[in-house]
Amino acid sequence: MPKKGKVYLIGAGPGDPGLLTIRGRELIESADVIVYDFLANPKLLDWARKDAKHFYVGKSAGRHSIPQDEIEEILVECARKGLQVVRLKGGDPFIFGRGGEEVSELETDKIAYEIVPGVTAALAAAAYAGIPLSHRDYSSSITFLTGHENPEKQTLSIDFRTYGKCTGTLCIYMGIGQLARIVNELKEGGMSGDMPVAIIEWATLNRQRSIQGTLATISNDLGRSGLGAPAIIVIGEVVAHRSKTEWFEGRPLYGKRIVVTRAREQASQLSRLLEDNGADVIELPFIEVKPDFDEKLVTEVLAGIAVYEWVIFTSANGVKNFFDLFYRAYDDIRCLGPMRIAAVGAATAREIEKHKLKVDLVPKKANARALAEELIENEGLESVQLLVVTGNQNREELVQRLENEGRAIVDTLPLYKTSKTDLTNDSAAARYRNEGADAVLFTSSSTVNSFVDQQAALTLEEGTRQPAFGSIGPMTTKTLQELNLPLGFEASQSSLEHFVVETISYLNEHPTSNTEH
Ligand code: SAH
Repeated sequence: MPKKGKVYLIGAGPGDPGLLTIRGRELIESADVIVYDFLANPKLLDWARKDAKHFYVGKSAGRHSIPQDEIEEILVECARKGLQVVRLKGGDPFIFGRGGEEVSELETDKIAYEIVPGVTAALAAAAYAGIPLSHRDYSSSITFLTGHENPEKQTLSIDFRTYGKCTGTLCIYMGIGQLARIVNELKEGGMSGDMPVAIIEWATLNRQRSIQGTLATISNDLGRSGLGAPAIIVIGEVVAHRSKTEWFEGRPLYGKRIVVTRAREQASQLSRLLEDNGADVIELPFIEVKPDFDEKLVTEVLAGIAVYEWVIFTSANGVKNFFDLFYRAYDDIRCLGPMRIAAVGAATAREIEKHKLKVDLVPKKANARALAEELIENEGLESVQLLVVTGNQNREELVQRLENEGRAIVDTLPLYKTSKTDLTNDSAAARYRNEGADAVLFTSSSTVNSFVDQQAALTLEEGTRQPAFGSIGPMTTKTLQELNLPLGFEASQSSLEHFVVETISYLNEHPTSNTEH
C-alpha cells in the first residue's frame, strides 16, 4: 500500500523548546519534511531526522516571508508525494497564525491533516513575566487581540475604543508598532491612564526583556527601552500583581550574552548550564564535523568486525557514526563479537554506553597518547588485532604507538571529517558582530586558536558589548596570553560547573559597560 501523505499543523510554542508538546516532538522526530517560520525556534529542528527536508518560510534579513499561497503549495505538493509533512507555527497554529487558512486549503485539496495545539505567546509571556492573567479579585476575563492582522498590513483591524471599559485582562499580539494608537483609542474608550501595562519581548527565551508602566506612560517607556517585535502587551490590574520573585528574569546570568563554541559534545553541556542560569547563549560553530568515509572499507571492516580483540574510539562523533553504519549492516548487537572496547574521554565512553555496552578502558587523561600507553602497559598488544575508529585528525600518533611500541596489528576506520567553518554568513556570528557579548568562554586552546583565526568574521560593530574572555584552565589561559587576548577570568578548577560559577561571579562584579538592558 503506498504511504499516504499527511500534514501536521503543529504549534511550536513561544520559543523555549521545552514548551513544545510531546505529540509535537514525536511528529518532528518522524517527519520527512519540516516547514517552519520565523517564530518557530530552529532548535526544534535538532530533533528531526538527519535526512528530513527543511523549508524556512519566514522572513529573513532583506526578505519578506514566503507568500501564504506558496507555503500552502509546498504543504500540498509534499503530502501528495506521500510524505509526512510537519508545519511548525510559532505559538498555537489557530491563534493569529493563519492556521485556519492552511487547513481550508488542505481540505480543498483533500489532504489528510492533524492539528497539534501549542502554548500561545500571551500565556507564555505572562507566565515568564510572573503575571497571573486571571485573578479572583481583579480579572475574570482574558481577551486576545491583534494590533494588525499580519506583519505586512500595518493598520489596526480592531476598534480598541470598544475595549476601553473592559475590566479584564487584554493581551495584544503584534501591537508594538501601533502602541500609541492603541493607547489613544483605549483612553478614548474610557480606560484610566493609571491602568497597569506590561510589554514582554522574546518571551521564554533567555533574551526575554520586559517593561512595566501604565497606560499613560507606556508609549514613552517603550521608546526608552528599545524593545521591539515580537512582543506581547498585557493590559489590566493583574499586571500590578506581578509575582515578587522574578523566577525567570531574576536568574544569575539573566541579561548576559555569552559566547561558546559549538560542535563538541562538551559545548552543548556548557550551553545548557549557562542557559539554565539565564544566559542568552550564542554558539559559534568554529568547526564543522561531517560524516566522511570509504564505503568499501566500511563494508570490509564491518564484515570482519568480530575478529578484532580491541576496538578503540577516539571521539563521541566516531561512536555515533560507527553505530549508524553498524546498525545499517546488522540488526543484532551480538554481531559485534567478543571485542573489548577502549575510549578516549568520558564523553566518548558515555556515547558507547548508550548502546548498553561496557567500556573496558578509559585512560586517566583524555588523550590518545595516554590511551596508547595504558593499553600497551596493561594489556600486552603484541600481534593483537585492533580497530581504531576515528576522524581525519590526530590519529597518526595513536596508530604509530600501537604499531611500533605495542606491536599490534592496527586497522584504522576514519568515519568523519573535521574542518573549519566559514563564519562570514553564519547567523550566530552575525548576532555576535551586531550585538556583542558579555563574555566569550574558551574551553580549550584550540577554541582560542579558532577564535583568533576567524577574527575577520568576528569583528564587533561599534557600540556593541565588549566581551570579557574566560578560560577553563591554565593551558587555555596560556594560549590566550600567547595570542595577546586579555584574560578576564579563569575557572578555579577545570570543570564546566566551576567555569559557570566563575562566569557568574565575574560578570556580577564586572557589569558590561555597553549594555542595552
Ligand atoms: N500563533 C502565534 C502568534 C503569531 S502572531 C501564537 O499563538 O503565539 C505573532 C505575534 O505573536 C508577535 O508579533 C508577538 O506579538 C507574538 N509572539 C510570538 N512569539 C512571541 C514571543 N516569544 N514573545 C513575545 N511575543 C511573541
